[in-house]
Amino acid sequence: MFCSKCGKKIPEDSSFCPFCGENIVHGEESAPSEHAASGEKGTQAGPLPVRGVPMWQHIAIIVGTIFIPLIGLMFGVYYLRSADAAKKKAGKIWLWVGIVAFLINLLFIFMA
Ligand SMILES: [Zn+2]
Repeated sequence: MFCSKCGKKIPEDSSFCPFCGENIVHGEESAPSEHAASGEKGTQAGPLPVRGVPMWQHIAIIVGTIFIPLIGLMFGVYYLRSADAAKKKAGKIWLWVGIVAFLINLLFIFMA
């Protein structure tokens, strides 16, 4: 640290300056570092509330918006190509499941 009066380098734990005799107030020195520490904590905690969405919800949104509609589309197209009427019906249901899941998760994304 440096003396606040003469500006010379002095030992960290000095209670007075060995060069000019100025009293060293450690309260002023430690206060900004505490502020800096709390500031660091603030910036560390900062990004979390900004995102505000827990990890499971991210995963749920990704699964819901990508995988379920994709699976729905795949099954839907696959079954709709089938000549079997029952499978065509199942294909339509799968397509709707995919579309609905996609729309619901779009809502999730906009609300999150
Ligand atoms: Zn000094």
